[in-house]
Amino acid sequence: MAEKDIILRLNKVSKSFAKIENDEVTHALNEIDLSMKNGEFISLVGPSGCGKSTILRLVAGLAQPTTGSLTVNDQEIKEPSPERGMVFQKATLFPWLTVENNIAFSLRVQGKLKGNEEKVERMLKIIGLEAFKDDYPGQLSGGMAQRVALVRSLINEPDILLLDEPLGALDAFTRMNMQDEILKIWQERKQLAIMVTHDIDEAIYMGTRVIVMDATPGRVVADIKIDENYPRDRSSAAFVAYRNEILNRLHFGGRE
Ligand code: ADP
Repeated sequence: MAEKDIILRLNKVSKSFAKIENDEVTHALNEIDLSMKNGEFISLVGPSGCGKSTILRLVAGLAQPTTGSLTVNDQEIKEPSPERGMVFQKATLFPWLTVENNIAFSLRVQGKLKGNEEKVERMLKIIGLEAFKDDYPGQLSGGMAQRVALVRSLINEPDILLLDEPLGALDAFTRMNMQDEILKIWQERKQLAIMVTHDIDEAIYMGTRVIVMDATPGRVVADIKIDENYPRDRSSAAFVAYRNEILNRLHFGGRE
């Protein structure tokens, strides 16, 4: 468990964008009220355009709400911070740096690398890429590159880990392996993780909670606690029941 409790709150958060072509406004998020804490792995699902990525960008501090506020332990989020680490769908690695130097990058720019070299070693070990530490990103497979991107964020020991479809670009087998790897890493510190995914099974397999959203305006339509131990059995009756419940909320239910 993380050393201290981390409570993230979205208080009546709305985010609108003016369209350039006409006078219309896109209501990306409409009065979202949510509370999340460390120990939770939140899966965000919903159709394209329902505001999932906008929520992550607001929590990251990369964007500001139009109205309402976001707080971490009652402190308003105003700007990005290494305490809120983001991992994108496409592994955003520096192609001119080796795997080891990509992982060490943020410690180096913060002047914290000296004395922390063993952290870099540990991260390499966690993702099983010690033998590839001198390789460049262009030499890695998609799954390997995404592992590097993941631990590159984790090295800052973020209180909140933001995952924007981190596995969306991977093939099905690599994806399932990576789901287990991310869970293993998350279980070490149980920081608050918030993951956007389009894959309902992935949302249930990984999340302690699945938040289902809908679009125009972007809003929360269901907030479902997944009360199952890890590792989860994708074919269990409970799993299938969660899947049906979520599909119904997304209007893909068979019997409506
Ligand atoms: P999702 O991640 O669920 O697909 P997004 O959060 O990316 O949804 O977007 C929600 C809505 O806000 C969409 O209609 C999108 O077009 C709009 N939107 C998001 N970011 C911007 C932006 N920077 N400028 C204008 N419109 C945006």
